[in-house]
Amino acid sequence: MAWDFATDPDYQAQLDWVDELVREEVEPLDLVLGNPYDKSDMQAMAMIRPLQDQVKAQGLWAAHLGPELGGQGYGQLKLALLNEILGRSRFAPSVFGCQAPDSGNAEILAHYGTEEQKAKYLQPLLDGAISSCYSMTEPHAGADPTLFRVRGTLDGDEWVINGEKWFSSNARYASFFIVMAVTNPEVSAYQGMSMFIVPAETPGIEIIRNVGTGNEPSGHGTHGYIRYNDVRVPADHLLGGEGQAFVIAQTRLGGGRIHHAMRTIAMARRAFDMMCERAVSRQTRTGPLASLQMTQEKVADSWIEIEMFRLLVLRTAWLIDQHNDYKRVRKDIAAVKVALPKVLHDVAQRALHLHGALGVSNEMPFVGMMVAAEALGIADGPTEVHKITLARQLLKQYQPVDTLFPSGHIPTRKAEAREKLSHLIDLAAADY
Ligand SMILES: Cc1cc2nc3c(=O)[nH]c(=O)nc-3n(C[C@H](O)[C@H](O)[C@H](O)COP(=O)(O)OP(=O)(O)OC[C@H]3O[C@@H](n4cnc5c(N)ncnc54)[C@H](O)[C@@H]3O)c2cc1C
Repeated sequence: MAWDFATDPDYQAQLDWVDELVREEVEPLDLVLGNPYDKSDMQAMAMIRPLQDQVKAQGLWAAHLGPELGGQGYGQLKLALLNEILGRSRFAPSVFGCQAPDSGNAEILAHYGTEEQKAKYLQPLLDGAISSCYSMTEPHAGADPTLFRVRGTLDGDEWVINGEKWFSSNARYASFFIVMAVTNPEVSAYQGMSMFIVPAETPGIEIIRNVGTGNEPSGHGTHGYIRYNDVRVPADHLLGGEGQAFVIAQTRLGGGRIHHAMRTIAMARRAFDMMCERAVSRQTRTGPLASLQMTQEKVADSWIEIEMFRLLVLRTAWLIDQHNDYKRVRKDIAAVKVALPKVLHDVAQRALHLHGALGVSNEMPFVGMMVAAEALGIADGPTEVHKITLARQLLKQYQPVDTLFPSGHIPTRKAEAREKLSHLIDLAAADY
């Protein structure tokens, strides 16, 4: 029987171990430490390292990668079951060596990097010793990369990069940047852009400011607005071939999108648990909030939406494992990407609302979750673009009819059925 919703008992035992570690040891770090990507924070590193060692001893380190890269080769389905626990905590992905955007950057370095690039940039990334940054979006264009202007020009045996990038996450903590630039403006953007590995210490990288989201205080953000001023890298710092940027970006973003979705299940479940606790705790004149039907509707709707989303994510993860090719699962990943912000937004909003003033305050995490939901609806491509991808792929499976009425027209179908079955039963008198 191929359809099975049970987890293998051995892996379930590992997941139970993860659940306890995250709850008892990692979630407290979220409340007292700074940024998980700041590897210069010695105190944080000293607290994280022993936990990372425990994860490695359990065989769960960098579970998103194949064994040739120090991961477990578990595939996306097992990773989904892991990530739906890790997504509860800010620090957990770093403790388990599978944090975005480093995980996606590691994936493209592994796919397209030379042996030297892998040794210099991939290995320390996999070891959790450094952070990295993916620098693609520009201030004037994001959703449509064909409009990008940052230029990479070959000058002797060096590439010179010029222009501005926007919302390059973790730029302030990164040891290197993966930068997308136009290298041949004469051809289509799909052939004329390339990816570069740029070490953070390269002269000319100017972080104009670090942009935050939501209510983050000015200057505390982690999304770099960057100007590349005559930034020179050796010719061998091209990642993949010249003109391959779009192919590389798709490899990276396919995985990144589904991994965000896995972690989102955890966030939505956290909001749901808080909603239910509030519902059974808070009293009104007539009883607890839980006794009110509109509260019950919020609980029921939220549970259904989370479970439907989870099944879509797990099925998509399973499909990726089956095909081992993101392109073949493009429509499914697009569907997950569209569903993701809505589920998180709706569940977090209901949980926030049931907490009243406390819900909108900075003493509960709901506002942060709602901002995260909005951000997830924009990052890695806005919802509209993914809806278009999904709809186009679905519509390809349909053919137009050349008849006056559609193929579902009941009188036409009845007439066809009568003709087909006339030799078996006498339908002349029947008028169904
Ligand atoms: C939290 C966060 C982290 C990010 N991290 C990174 C990072 O590390 N590196 C990086 O390079 N980028 C990063 N980004 C940027 C992200 O990739 C872009 O924000 C995204 O591609 C959208 O681009 P934009 O913001 O310029 O919006 P625009 O392209 O201006 O789009 C704005 C809106 O216009 C509409 N729209 C645009 N195009 C279409 C269309 N074709 N059809 C219908 N409607 C459309 C949509 O409503 C869309 O939301 C991050 C963004 C966020 C929010």
